[in-house]
Amino acid sequence: MEIQTVDTPASQGNADELSTYTAPERATPYDVTDDVFGIKTLFVNVFFVGKPGIGNAWTLIDAGFFGYADAIRTRAEQLYGPTNPPQAIVLTHGHADHVGTLHKLLKQWGNVPVYAHPLERPYLTAVSSYPPPDPAIGGGGMSLMSWVFPIGPDDFSEVLTAIPASGRIPELPEWRVIHTPGHAPGHISLFRDKDRTLIAGDAFVTTNQNSISAGINQTEEVHGPPAYFTCDWTAAEESVRKLALLNPLKVGTGHGVSMRGLDLQLELGRLVSEFRERSIPSEGRYVKEAAKTDENGIISMPEPTSFTIARAIGIGLAVGLVWGMVRSVR
Ligand SMILES: [Zn+2]
Ligand SMILES: [Zn+2]
Repeated sequence: MEIQTVDTPASQGNADELSTYTAPERATPYDVTDDVFGIKTLFVNVFFVGKPGIGNAWTLIDAGFFGYADAIRTRAEQLYGPTNPPQAIVLTHGHADHVGTLHKLLKQWGNVPVYAHPLERPYLTAVSSYPPPDPAIGGGGMSLMSWVFPIGPDDFSEVLTAIPASGRIPELPEWRVIHTPGHAPGHISLFRDKDRTLIAGDAFVTTNQNSISAGINQTEEVHGPPAYFTCDWTAAEESVRKLALLNPLKVGTGHGVSMRGLDLQLELGRLVSEFRERSIPSEGRYVKEAAKTDENGIISMPEPTSFTIARAIGIGLAVGLVWGMVRSVR
């Protein structure tokens, strides 16, 4: 696995100034623990991992929706003090709504390493676009709106750093990287064993992201990955099962509020047992057949449903035309 070396800026500030600082535990519904904080950028969450305190080392998970760089920086400054960029940024995956502020933040913070799974690399280095979204899955306006989301490719080659094969990111020594493909080929989740805290990205979410009103209002409900971009449902189901087996006690996801305790465990168990009925759309481009991808991006994709329907209509018209011509010649 190729790993680029990137200079990590030294943590700035003075640890002695921390004694007066009190951490705001769960000041927002997106905060997960007293050292994992979250904010919502329009409808997608980013997380700040690190004990709060001026000058403390911290890591940003995902980079949120375009236009929210200032909101992310402001929360970071509240938690870790000014002029204290993160040690690293870790991407659960590279969908546009999770990397929207990345260029701007890197401009302000300097080139901190940006970690992603090697299978996400082609979409983050302008080598390949993502498999296109599938608005034919139904389930609400968000899937139709998915057409307007950019699918890249974006280029972060200068800072992109492959997650080590060991699954351990040096800047996050307590966390395990879990490969959770399906929603995106190189999608990852992060798990900390000591308090069973999970950052699940979009492997599963805590709101029905397929519906615009639930997505914006963040109605609480453990749900499979946002359907419009999920390009391999078998892998997505396996990934949810893998995460449920970790038996997480606290979770922050890419969409929806953070959840914890019994609520989370019951809901997650229910999601696993009812995944097919509740999360996989009844029809759609990637439902019967997954998009095939590798470290260079898309290899092959099933035809879009609408194309299949259009072709069926086209063949029907052609057959009708020929039949009509034959009859008129007689
Ligand atoms: Zn996504
Ligand atoms: Zn997302």
